Amino acid sequence: MAIQNSQASPGILFDVRHVTRRFDGLTAVDQVSLSVAEGECVSVIGPNGAGKSTLFNLLAGTDKPDDGIVRFDGDDVTGFAPEALAQRGVARTFQHGRVFANLSVLDNVLIGAHSRLAMTRRGWPLIGAIAEVYRALVPGTRLRHEDEQLRDEAKAVLARFGTRLMPRIDAPAHSLSYANRRRVEIARALMLHPRILLLDEPTAGMNESETAEMLELILQLKQEGLTILLIEHKLDLVMRLSDRVIVLDDGRKIASGLPDEVRNNPRVIEAYLGHRHVGQRTGHVVPAAA
Ligand code: ADP
Ligand code: MG
Repeated sequence: MAIQNSQASPGILFDVRHVTRRFDGLTAVDQVSLSVAEGECVSVIGPNGAGKSTLFNLLAGTDKPDDGIVRFDGDDVTGFAPEALAQRGVARTFQHGRVFANLSVLDNVLIGAHSRLAMTRRGWPLIGAIAEVYRALVPGTRLRHEDEQLRDEAKAVLARFGTRLMPRIDAPAHSLSYANRRRVEIARALMLHPRILLLDEPTAGMNESETAEMLELILQLKQEGLTILLIEHKLDLVMRLSDRVIVLDDGRKIASGLPDEVRNNPRVIEAYLGHRHVGQRTGHVVPAAA
């Protein structure tokens, strides 16, 4: 069968061909190819240092590949800036959680609408003191109405996290627990109305019940049809969520397939055992300390 031109493949969001990223002598991502179709949940697993976060950076525009091609929805977006990718609907969270420490929870989430609005009306969500001044000076305008709508939407997104964030919407992000900062990041990403959500270890630093809550949320997003690319260390989570799994080791893709196929793949077991990262009791792949 002839190899299909990806640009003619309907429903493929990311189509990544042979991307490579080198840091001095180290090849962190080595000729990795993958694709993610609309509506899929694809997980990237692998031991610490395997190149997972670096790969995410290449897809989200926070870093550029030395080689290879990244296509999104049929377009070559290799080396595009994060903002350009966000405007196309690529939203991501960071492994260690990034929030604006001095902004409130609500304003942190409102910022997520920026790329979406920049695309439609070249506007900015009005946040914090600027919003207060604006509301005082420009009463009764269409923009004020949009501002209210955005706030309502942000609150609805925050309500997805139950009582974790709602009582804290006016609190500065620096006062939040680590787990709550991760939740704020996801809420901010959802405000973009993403076409694909890239989650880098969303349950890192979370205990068992927090992890179970996060699993429920991601399952729900998946059921709503959101396309998800997930980096995750907790294998039971990966097994529950993923349609397909891609395994990286030392920058290379060593396996890919259905969750069960991958779990039983001898190369995958060797990669984890070789790095001594498998928890004996839990079966979780334990991340080394950051
Ligand atoms: P993972 O997310 O799978 O744990 P990373 O993508 O963070 O792995 O890292 C892959 C390899 O690349 C590691 O050896 C890491 O030290 C290295 N690396 C990542 N980012 C940089 C950087 N900015 N400069 C130099 N080396 C880096
Ligand atoms: Mg990482």
